[in-house]
Amino acid sequence: MHQLDDCIFCQIANGHAPAYKIHEDELTCTFLDIFPATPGHCLIITKEHFSDIFEAKAEALAQVARNSVLITKALEQVIAPDGLGVYQFNRACAGQTVFHYHMHLIPQFEGKNIGIHSKQAGDPDELAALAEQLKSVLP
Ligand SMILES: [Zn+2]
Repeated sequence: MHQLDDCIFCQIANGHAPAYKIHEDELTCTFLDIFPATPGHCLIITKEHFSDIFEAKAEALAQVARNSVLITKALEQVIAPDGLGVYQFNRACAGQTVFHYHMHLIPQFEGKNIGIHSKQAGDPDELAALAEQLKSVLP
């Protein structure tokens, strides 16, 4: 599997960098964003390094889509948001900031207008606890 040593998401995917992982399979890895826009902000990444959708393999992205349903159900149970933003950016001009394919799942709440990237890091203890909670409700 093609991965890059200097890519943070590759390092998370292969376990060389820490992350609040909540789900993993052969093709994908899901973890909490450490700069959450809202509590429960998840990222689903492909394990293989694709910079963006322009070079991604359909099979891997299909698995990302499948898992987005799974993770949404877990978020619904644990966070109970009013809605959920699913965002996916490709290349800098489209708003991509980490150049390894990823999908954002961002819980949204009535009456709040929430951006995609928070400037504030999440509390490590809260992130760890939330990751455990989400893992516990996944099949
Ligand atoms: Zn990568």
